[in-house]
Parts: sequence; structure tokens; C-alpha cells
Amino acid sequence: MQTFLYVHIPFCLRKCRYCDFNSVDDSHVTPAEYIDGVVKEMGLRADRLAGHMSAPTLYFGGGTPSLLEPALVARVIDAAARLFGLEPDAEITLEANPGTLTAELLRGYRTAGVNRLSLGVQSFDDGQLQFLGRVHTAAQTRDALARARSAGFANIGIDLIHSLPGESLARWRSDLAAAVALRPAHISVYGLTIEEGTPLAALEEAGKLEPLSGDASAEMIREAMERLAGAGYGQYEIANFARPGCRSRHNQAYWRRAPYLGFGAGAHSFLREGYGVRWCNAADPSGYLASLAGGSLPDDERQALSREDARAEFMFLGLRMCDGVDTDAFRAEFGEPVEMVWPGTVELLVTAGLLERKGSVLRLTPRALPVANQLFVRFL
Ligand code: SF4
Repeated sequence: MQTFLYVHIPFCLRKCRYCDFNSVDDSHVTPAEYIDGVVKEMGLRADRLAGHMSAPTLYFGGGTPSLLEPALVARVIDAAARLFGLEPDAEITLEANPGTLTAELLRGYRTAGVNRLSLGVQSFDDGQLQFLGRVHTAAQTRDALARARSAGFANIGIDLIHSLPGESLARWRSDLAAAVALRPAHISVYGLTIEEGTPLAALEEAGKLEPLSGDASAEMIREAMERLAGAGYGQYEIANFARPGCRSRHNQAYWRRAPYLGFGAGAHSFLREGYGVRWCNAADPSGYLASLAGGSLPDDERQALSREDARAEFMFLGLRMCDGVDTDAFRAEFGEPVEMVWPGTVELLVTAGLLERKGSVLRLTPRALPVANQLFVRFL
């Protein structure tokens, strides 16, 4: 059974002002102690999950995985190969903060087996980076990218954030132009969302910050679609663009509902048992390690998906991808056609020019992609 692997590294140098990810900047747990726990969890999971497995990808996400020493990354890669059949040509991605990447660290990651970097660039404007609370500057990003290439990384993705309060289309265009000029293999573009409990949310509540409107944000996505297509980046998901052959294999697994195992504090897993089973590990690194020290798996929440949950996921995850969903596969899995489960919905969206049908495939039209999140509720 092919299973995709994820390892969560919950440490950051400093918490960004928009961040509600599971990450801490004041942990008493050391990276070495934490990775001991991750490797222990991998062993316990492998014992529980009988049967041959192969893993086409391993993804170090965070947090800031580039705070790990290469030897710790190598330990996890070795454990993945030994316990979960990490494939010889597996895509091994490490998310990295441009402010943390020395030449030595990069060479170490490459030697450890990492073959893809995902750089949290976010912007090429130092004012925007400061507003977001990032620890790096645009100059550090350019240096980090050059160093990564010198260290042997050819497959490098960068993340950008658009739709900051007050951001103009012209400003966003300059970020897109700067990104394209660096010729990364992959570009992700995410709209800023102001999450509850973050410093940006406090500013909004105090009336000191006004989020950009939905229309302006959709315009920025349209701009990205146009500029990136013109520069040779194919859009394959609502927020993701890649040069030919450079799609993220790992992220596509999530949208296709492929099985994945997440290790580490707060990591999520999904297996195709029944209509699907999900669980999430304890989020706090100390609590996570305490469970493992007691010999237990650190599962916090476990949910068996109902048929209704699985049908909805099939649609709203699958439609995120520009390849769309295969309605024959839907019928084979759930025993009834899409049109019967959501009567009138497909026809309505096709007539409105938001969905298109090609053979058995249904996919969002380019017009629908910038407002995709508003359409998915129709399949809940
Ligand atoms: S680097 Fe990423 S995970 Fe860490 S605080 Fe910033 S946004 Fe959050």
C-alpha cells in the first residue's frame, strides 16, 4: 500500500504575527529529544500497521524544519526507509525559512537525502515581511536560494502571501515578478487570512487593520494565474503552480485522498479504512513526548468518516486540483452518480460557467478558480 509520510517540526525562531500553525518559539523540548520521540512514534506506528508499505514521499513541515541539524533529518529519513519502505526515488521535501539557511546546513540536508526545498519566502518587500513578523529579509531569500542551488538543490518551491491589508495589485505584481525572475521550480500563492488569537486578529479587533476585500483578493489570484502562466508555470491546484514535471507529489496526495501518516506533535494522518479514518496527534510537544515515554501513541482525536463526509471530501478536495474529479471513480467508490447526490448542483455550476465537464471529468473553470472556496460549500 502506498502511504505518504509527513513529519511535523513545531519549532520556530519567533512566532509570525499571522500564524496559527502548531508551532512554538519557547519550547523546553530540544530538537534532539523531539526527533527521538518522532522516531519512536514511527516504530510504534509501523508495529501497529501490519502489511507491506511503500512511501513515495516524505515531507518535513512546520514550524521551521530548517532549525534541525542535518543529522536529525537523516535519522528520520533512515527510519522512514527502514519502517515504511521509503522509495529510492522518493520526493523528500523540507520546508525552510530563508533566514536560517547556511551553506553548511544546505549541504548537510542534501547529503541526508532531502531533494526538494520549500522556502517560506512570503514576500520580496521588506515592509510586508516586517508587517507579517517574518524573521528574514528579501535579500536573505535571494542569498538562500543561490546557496541552495550551489548545494545541489534543483527542485525548489517558494511560498508567497498576497492580500495583505492595503496591498495594491501593483505591489503584488512586483512580488510575482521577483519570484519568476528567480526561476524556482514551484510557486505557491496564498491569500492572507487573519486567524483568531493571532496578533493580526487583535489589531483587527482594535479597528487598526482592515482586511482586503474578497473581490480584491480574487483579483490577486487572477493576476497570479495570468503572470505565472505567462512565465511557464502550470497551475495544478487553486494556489499552486509548477514548471513542467515539478508538481509537489506530496501535496497532491492530500487532494486525492491518498493515505498518509503524520508523525510529530499535532500531525494529522489519514488511512483508507472504511470511508476513511483520520487522527491528529497531541499538539503540545511536551505532551506528545510524554505519551510516547509512557509507551502510548500520542493520538488526540480519531474520527471515522461517514459516507457523507467521504463523498463531500472527494468533491471539495478533488476540485481544488485543475485536473478535476473523475465522476466514474466517484460512482465506483460510492455507488451512485455525483448528479444524484447533489441534484441540480453540477448543472447549475456548469450553466454558470464555473464547472466544466470533459468525458467523465468535472473540473473548475479558470473563472471559478479564484473563488473556489465559495463553491465548495455546495458539496457539503
Ligand atoms: S515560520 Fe511559519 S510556522 Fe513559524 S511562526 Fe512563522 S508562519 Fe508560523
